[in-house]
Amino acid sequence: MGYKTIIGLEIHVELATKTKMFCSCINAFGGEANTHCCPVCIGLPGALPVINKTAVEYAVKAGIALNSKINTKTRMDRKNYFYSDLVKGYQISQDDLPLCDGGYIEIELENETKKVRLERIHIEEDTGKQIHSEKEDTLIDYNRAGVPLIEIVTKPDMNTPEEARLFLEKLRATLKYIEVSDCKMEEGSLRCDININVVDDKTGSKTNITEIKNLNSFKGAVKAMEYEEKRHISLLKEGKNTVRETRRWDDISNETITMRGKGGVADYRFAPDGDIAPIELSDEWIEEIKNNLPELPHDKKERFIKEYELSEYDAGVLTASKELAFFFEETIKYIDDSKLVSNWIMGDVLRRLKDEELEIEDTSLTPKYLGQLISIVKEGKINNNTGKKVLKEIFDTGKDPETIVKEQGLIQINDEGALKEIVSKVLDDNEQSIIDYRNGKDRAIGFLVGQIMKASKGKANPQLVNKMVIDMINER
Ligand SMILES: [Zn+2]
Repeated sequence: MGYKTIIGLEIHVELATKTKMFCSCINAFGGEANTHCCPVCIGLPGALPVINKTAVEYAVKAGIALNSKINTKTRMDRKNYFYSDLVKGYQISQDDLPLCDGGYIEIELENETKKVRLERIHIEEDTGKQIHSEKEDTLIDYNRAGVPLIEIVTKPDMNTPEEARLFLEKLRATLKYIEVSDCKMEEGSLRCDININVVDDKTGSKTNITEIKNLNSFKGAVKAMEYEEKRHISLLKEGKNTVRETRRWDDISNETITMRGKGGVADYRFAPDGDIAPIELSDEWIEEIKNNLPELPHDKKERFIKEYELSEYDAGVLTASKELAFFFEETIKYIDDSKLVSNWIMGDVLRRLKDEELEIEDTSLTPKYLGQLISIVKEGKINNNTGKKVLKEIFDTGKDPETIVKEQGLIQINDEGALKEIVSKVLDDNEQSIIDYRNGKDRAIGFLVGQIMKASKGKANPQLVNKMVIDMINER
C-alpha cells in the first residue's frame, strides 16, 4: 500500500484478411519460409503497394466495437528504422492521423465497472520474422512481412496487473466476436507491449516507465507486470529510480531482462507514404459496417440476463467467449431449460475446461450431447451424480450419452419394489442410525441414504431412497 501502479498497453493484432495489407500474397500463419512473398512485400524497388480494403474494413469494425471515433480522412505514413526483419528500411504505418481516435473498454471489477480509455487504433503492416538457428545464424522469414495489423494503444488507465488482464481478455473476446482476428497468441496474432511505472502516494515521486516488449501469453504478461511492480516499489523504497528502458520477460527464469536503454524518444522521421493515396471513407460505408456488426459481448450479456433470466455473473461468464455463448444457446435448442443448461456449463463443464486448459470448441462435448445428457437427468433416467460421470465419459470418449448409459448399465432405479430389498438390508445392518434418527438426529438419514446409494452402485434414485428410508423406519 502507499504505492500506485500505472499501466498502459500497446497491442498488435493481426487481421484475419485472406491477403496481405498491400499485395495479393496469402495471409496465413506458417508455411515454408519465404513462400508467401512477392516484390511488394519484400520491398523490391519499383514495386507499388495497393491498400487492402478488407483490412481497412476490419480496422473500422474494431474501432466501432471499441467505441472509437473513425476518422474519415487519413493516410499511411512511413516509419523509418533499420532492422533485418524490415526489408524496406521503413514500416508502412500511421503517424498523426490514425484511422481511429479514442475509444474505451469497460472491465468488471469487484465493486465497479471501470472504463479503460484508448488513445488510438491505427493500421500498419507486420514485419518479417527472425529465426535464430542452432548454428547461431539468424535466418529471416518474410512470410509475415506485410500482414495487416492494427495497433491498439491504451491510456495509462490500469492500476493492477489484474485490471490489465481483464482488459486484455475483454479486448480479445470483442475482436473474436467481430471476427477480425483469430487472436491466437501462440501464433503471434495478438502481441502485447506493457508500459509500467509506480508512484509513491505520499511523496508523489515516481519511477521511470519500463517498457516490456512482445508478451505472447496473458499469463506471461501478468507475471511480468507483477515482477516489475515489485521491482519498481523496492527501488522507490531505496530512494533509487529505474532507468527508462525496454525489457523482455523471460518465461524460464521468471524475470524481466534489460533489452535496451531508451535515451529519448526514437526519431522515426515519419513522412506520408507517397506510394499510397490518402484514405477517404464515406459516412455511408462506416454506417453500413456499423449496421452489420454482430452482437457484441456487452449486448449479448444484457440479452442473456433478460431472455434467459440468468444472473449478471452467469451471463458474464457465458458470454466471455463467443464460442461458449454459442454453445449455451445451441444446447438450449435440445433442452428448453436455460437455468439448468447454465448450471451444467458453469459447473462441471467449465471446471473440466479449466483443468485441461481447453476451449469448449476443442472438446468432444457438443451442444447436442450436453442437451441429451441434461434431458435424461431431468427425466430421472439417471441421477445427477451419474450424469456427472456420463459427462466425464463424453469428454473422454466422445460417445453420446444414451450409448454410455446403455453400455454401462447406468439407468436409474426408480422402482420401489426393486429397491426395497436393498433398503431393508441397510436398515437391518445399521440399527444405531435408526435409533439416532428417532432421537432427532436427522443426519442419520443422510448416512443411510449414502449406504443405499453405494449398495445400488449409484443407480438408485436418491430422492426416492430418502423417502423410502423415512417411510420404512416409521413402519418398523
Ligand atoms: Zn506480397
